[in-house]
Amino acid sequence: MVGGAVLLSLLFKGRTFCRFICPLGGFIGVYSQMSPLALRAKDEVVCKGHKEKGCVLGNGCGYGCPWLENPPTMQHSTNCGLCMECVRTCDRSNISFGLRWPDNLAGVPGRVEEAYQAVVFASVGILFTVVLFGPWGSVRTWLDASGMSGRFAYVGILAGVGLLGVPALLWGMSGLLARVPGSSGLTARTLWVEFSHALVPLGMAVWMAFALAALSNGLPHVPQVLADPMGRGWNLFGLGDVSWPRLLPGRLAYAQTALVLAGLVWGIVAWRHRVLMLVPAGKLSAWSMALPVGVLTATATGLLWVLLG
Ligand code: SF4
Ligand code: SF4
Repeated sequence: MVGGAVLLSLLFKGRTFCRFICPLGGFIGVYSQMSPLALRAKDEVVCKGHKEKGCVLGNGCGYGCPWLENPPTMQHSTNCGLCMECVRTCDRSNISFGLRWPDNLAGVPGRVEEAYQAVVFASVGILFTVVLFGPWGSVRTWLDASGMSGRFAYVGILAGVGLLGVPALLWGMSGLLARVPGSSGLTARTLWVEFSHALVPLGMAVWMAFALAALSNGLPHVPQVLADPMGRGWNLFGLGDVSWPRLLPGRLAYAQTALVLAGLVWGIVAWRHRVLMLVPAGKLSAWSMALPVGVLTATATGLLWVLLG
């Protein structure tokens, strides 16, 4: 009992669970980079001269940042929950909240952990889309028919491809890019991190297209679930015979296509922007644009084929 309590307190101390274990925390953090709304310190010099640092340590007006961010130096939105506590505790009115360039276009260098999360979430989103909405009914039949062993195999495939296979493939592409003439000495690691950040818009488009399809398919069944939430054959409120209309009937494919194309264009712009932060425009080799843009375009094309095919 005491051991369990100690384990729980260790797990949640310093938001360990939220920051390093919970996949939802990582998911929300990665796609927060797309937000045009962000909170930042207005003037670094003011922060440097402020010893009390109420935004970090807390004061009479409120807590120190509950998300354990460091508002004076925060450049990424990934670990900011927009709780606004630092706005209350900053007694120098040095925190601003408003419209700004999303992180992947804002000129801040990428970070390895976020890069890895971006690749994993994009890969898993694509795999989910392929399995649930792709033209391969045999995959779904296999999953339905093979019970738990099939489910475990599916989780194993998802983990193998998403956690290792795709990150390794992109590392290979980055290694190739680092070797071509004109890469200006950029390492495979730097190119991998920056490309992964440029993948965020397409990853988000994948999830939005996936969610639209899931919503469209699921919406007609909501009244039946409300009528019999425990699966006991009830017909609460007489909703058992009601069916809601599908979402965007006949237009779902257009909406998904628009999302994927927007993700592709944003990804290409983000890649160009990010690579130009590292290499002067005149020294950028054609390969440095062609290969990553080709990978993004091939991914988006394959995805559209799966969604529309
Ligand atoms: S309290 Fe305000 S001025 Fe002080 S460090 Fe934090 S953001 Fe900067
Ligand atoms: S808004 Fe909340 S989570 Fe974000 S930096 Fe301020 S205190 Fe931390």
